[in-house]
Amino acid sequence: MNVNTLILGAGAAGMMAAAHAGTEVLVVDHARAAGEKIRISGGGRCNFTNLHTDPARFLSRNPHFAKSALSRYTPRDFVALVDAHGIAHHEKTLGQLFCDGSAKQIVAMLRTEMDRAGARLWLQTEVGDIAHDGAAFRVDLVREGRPVTVTARHLILATGGKSIPKMGATDLSYRIAAQFGLPLVAPRPGLVPLTFTDDRFAALAGTALPTRASANGTAFAEATLFTHRGLSGPAILQASSYWTEGGTLTLDLAPGTALGDALVTAKRDAARKTLTTVLSYHLPTKLVQYLATHASDDWPSGWQTAPLATLPDAALRDLGAALHHWHLIPSGTEGYRTAEVTLGGIDTAGLNSRTMAAKHLPTLYAIGEAVDVTGWLGGYNFQWAWASGWAAGQAIAAA
Ligand code: FAD
Repeated sequence: MNVNTLILGAGAAGMMAAAHAGTEVLVVDHARAAGEKIRISGGGRCNFTNLHTDPARFLSRNPHFAKSALSRYTPRDFVALVDAHGIAHHEKTLGQLFCDGSAKQIVAMLRTEMDRAGARLWLQTEVGDIAHDGAAFRVDLVREGRPVTVTARHLILATGGKSIPKMGATDLSYRIAAQFGLPLVAPRPGLVPLTFTDDRFAALAGTALPTRASANGTAFAEATLFTHRGLSGPAILQASSYWTEGGTLTLDLAPGTALGDALVTAKRDAARKTLTTVLSYHLPTKLVQYLATHASDDWPSGWQTAPLATLPDAALRDLGAALHHWHLIPSGTEGYRTAEVTLGGIDTAGLNSRTMAAKHLPTLYAIGEAVDVTGWLGGYNFQWAWASGWAAGQAIAAA
């Protein structure tokens, strides 16, 4: 069978590309349904874009690479599409747009757009050997158990990253990229809970508080959640993408409050109160109990029952400062099992930022999460999938 464009992966990026790549488009996927990650995203409501999309909110070895696609297909373009399909939506927080109803509406919208463009979709299709004879790709597929060879002028790699293997994530795009000489940036889990070898936070599991979490110089002011295995919550997921093995995570437990000043003021006003009592006005009680009984490099133990009057102002200020800079060294992450995205992937050095095509083989394209462009939490990853899929589709339609 002959097509103009074969797209591997019917996820966010692949479906978007299919809707824009012109005629004779075939999309194949080994899953039973298209857009499964869209369906479960955003707690079932799909955080489909972010109004504050900016290249600075993406991680990549080349921070300039994403600029072209993101500036040509913007959140406004995607919102216009969502509006045209009559899908009601709202801004939750920090520019994050969600469906009022269900993420399934976004999947249905993309399927409709693919149908309008005349693109075909083969599900439950396995991808086998791939060759390029100088003019076209020959791709061996097994569709619902039967072998089929497809010849395609253009081949788009859109099978995403390695996150959530249970949902069918594989490294297929990386393998094909490597076969055709495209370099890779080592993939690693991103937007993922951080873990510790011991169960130090087990007693705090379920406790959440507003924080500022930072790793490798990038900070996020959002909630942190203590878990049986370590730390989670949006601040931690965000910081995890910047954290590297062996590195320090710094937590400000009371951003926006000058804790040292607050303790010194409390000492003047209520000298007999204990430190733990006063700290409980600012932090969850369970956390205060934990901090008071667990010495760290940042503060001494044994201060829990001391009345404020017995503590020098300098000590109170030092303690306040320490609670604004709690240094932790996680032992790892929960890995691809729970990571929302995969950092790294197909190195942008081998790709044209306008078309997503391989520089040395311009009929091979890579889009979406398979590429070394990873967004923050909050709708940025879908916006990259839409924008990069659109860029490749446009380039093929114009070819
Ligand atoms: P995917 O959407 O992952 O699609 C890849 C497709 O390729 C899949 O359909 C898969 O079945 C197929 N495939 C994989 N391997 C093979 C193979 N060997 N053969 C054939 N087919 C294959 N981002 C946001 O912006 N907002 C959110 O609200 C959000 N929520 C998320 C929630 C969860 C739980 C997860 C895991 C991720 C979430 N993300 C969110 C991230 C977002 O889902 C991804 O970044 C985005 O889906 C990437 O699009 P993609 O098309 O590149 O890859």
